[in-house]
Amino acid sequence: MNAPTIPPRPAFLDAKAHDMLIGGKHVPALSGEQFETRNPATGELLAKIAKAGAADVGIAVQAARAAFEGPWRRMKPAQRQHIILRLADLVEQNYEELAMLDTLDLGAPYSRTILGKTRAVSLLRYYAGQATLIAGDTLPNSAPGDILSHTLKEPIGVVAAINPWNGPIGMSVWKAGPVLASGCTLVMKPAEQTPLSALRFGELCLEAGVPEGVINIVTGHGDAGAALAAHPDVDKIAFTGSTGVGEKILHAAAATMKRVTVELGGKSPNIIFADADLDKAVPAAAMAVFANSGQICSAGTRLFVQSSIHDEFMERLAAFTRTIRVGDPLAPETQIGPVVSATQMERILGFVDGASAEGAMPIAGGRRMAGAGYDAGFFVEPTIFTHVRDEMTIAREEIFGPVLSAFSFETIEEVITRANATSFGLGSGVWTQNLATAHHMARAIRAGSVWVNCYQMLDPAVPFGGYGMSGFGRESGPHHIEEYLETKAVWINLD
Ligand code: NAP
Ligand code: MG
Repeated sequence: MNAPTIPPRPAFLDAKAHDMLIGGKHVPALSGEQFETRNPATGELLAKIAKAGAADVGIAVQAARAAFEGPWRRMKPAQRQHIILRLADLVEQNYEELAMLDTLDLGAPYSRTILGKTRAVSLLRYYAGQATLIAGDTLPNSAPGDILSHTLKEPIGVVAAINPWNGPIGMSVWKAGPVLASGCTLVMKPAEQTPLSALRFGELCLEAGVPEGVINIVTGHGDAGAALAAHPDVDKIAFTGSTGVGEKILHAAAATMKRVTVELGGKSPNIIFADADLDKAVPAAAMAVFANSGQICSAGTRLFVQSSIHDEFMERLAAFTRTIRVGDPLAPETQIGPVVSATQMERILGFVDGASAEGAMPIAGGRRMAGAGYDAGFFVEPTIFTHVRDEMTIAREEIFGPVLSAFSFETIEEVITRANATSFGLGSGVWTQNLATAHHMARAIRAGSVWVNCYQMLDPAVPFGGYGMSGFGRESGPHHIEEYLETKAVWINLD
C-alpha cells in the first residue's frame, strides 16, 4: 500500500471558538467554561472547547425535541435519503480534514485514520438505503369478525448518543446514520479527549441540509453525559464506552424507561490452531491487538496458541512485533501512535507492572517509549506477555492498550471453555484450515462476532455488538434501524 500524503493542518483548528452545535447554531456554554483538547503525540494544545453543563444539555434536548415535532419526521423517506446521501458525499469530500482532526486529537496515525473513509461513507450510504426500507406488516389475526390488523413503524424520538474516544469520526457517523434514516433527532456527546471531528461533522450535517436541531453536538465531560442520560425528554440512549459507565447509563435510563443500546468493553480471544496458515496468522494476531495502540473494544487481547506450535508462533510474533513502527502519527510510515492520554498510559503501565509482579513474562515491549520524538507524548511499546495464567488480572480485565496476554492450549474443548471464561463477549478470532473446526468454533464461542482466518472485519450490512458484559443491541446490519423505531399495532374493524 502506498503511504498517504499528509494533508495540511485543518483550518478548523484556527476557528475563533470551538462552540457546540445546538439548534443549527454555534453556541458557547452558558457558563462560558471551556476545556482543552491536546495532541497526545506532542502535548500541543489543539483547541479550547465549550464545556457543557446540565443546562446546556437541557437546551440541546429541547432543540432536538422541537426538531422532532417539526416537519422532519413527516418528511418523505426519499427526502431523508437524499439528505443522507448528500451528507455521505460531503463526508467523502472532507474526509482528509476529518481524518487529520482525529489524528491530532487521538494520536492515531494518519495512515490509519484515512482508511476510515470508505467505512464512514459506505455506512452513510447504507443508512440512506434504509430510510426507504422502513415498513410495518399486515398481520392476519384470528379475532372474531372482520378486523384488519397492521403495524406502523414510528421513530422513537430524541436520541442521546454518548461516544468513546477511540474512533471519533467513525463513531459519529455510526450514531447519526440510523437517527437520520429513521426520522429521530439526536444530541451527541463526543468524548472529552476527542471532540473535534464531531463538531466538524455537525457542520457538514447542516451543509447537507439536515434541518436545524436534528443533529446537535454537545461537548463536555462525563457530567454532561450523565445529564444527557438522565434527561426525561430523551427517548433513547445509544451508548458506546466502558462497561462501568454503561452500568450507570442503565440506571439513569430506568427512571423514564428510555430505550437503550450499550456497546461496551471486551477481552476478546484470538485462537490459533496448529493447522493455521501462520504466515497470515502471525501478523494478523499482532495487529488484532496493537492496531490503534490497542484502543479497540474488540481487540484480540487473549491469544490462545495450540501447544504444538506455541513456541514457534510466539517467537515469530515477537519478531514481527519488533518491526512495528511506533511514532509520529503524521509520518506516513508510522503504524502505531501514542495512547490517548497520560491517564491511559499510566493505567496501561500499571497493568504491565502488575502482570510482571504476578509472574507473567514479557517477550516484547513492556515500557513507555523514551527519547526524541517520544518524550512529549504517551507512547507505550507493543507488549506481549507469555506465562499468563487465566486468573491473572491481565488475563481478565480490559486494558485498552497495546498489551497481549498469550496462552498455550491442547484441545478444542479446552480452548472453548477457556475462551468463554470471561464476563465479556464482543469479538473473537479463530485460525484454522479445517472447515469443521471453523464451524464448530463459530457456534461455540460466546461473542457477538467470530472472525475466522481474519480479524476485526466490520461492514455496514453486518451486525456488531456484545454478549454479556460487552453490552446489548446490535449496530449495523438490516435490524439496527429497529432500535430507533417503535412498533404500533393498528386494528380496524371492517364489519
Ligand atoms: P468511557 O469512559 O465509558 O466514556 C464514554 C463516554 O461516556 C464519554 O463520552 C464519557 O465522557 C461519557 N461518560 C463518562 N461518565 C459518564 C456518566 N456517568 N454518564 C454518562 N456518560 C458518561 O469510555 P472511554 O474511555 O471513552 O472509551 C473506552 C471504552 O469504550 C472501552 O471500555 C472500550 O471497550 C469501549 N468501547 C466499546 C466499543 C463497542 O462498540 N463495544 C467501541 C469503542 C469503545 P468523558 O469523555 O468526558 O469521560
Ligand atoms: Mg485530544
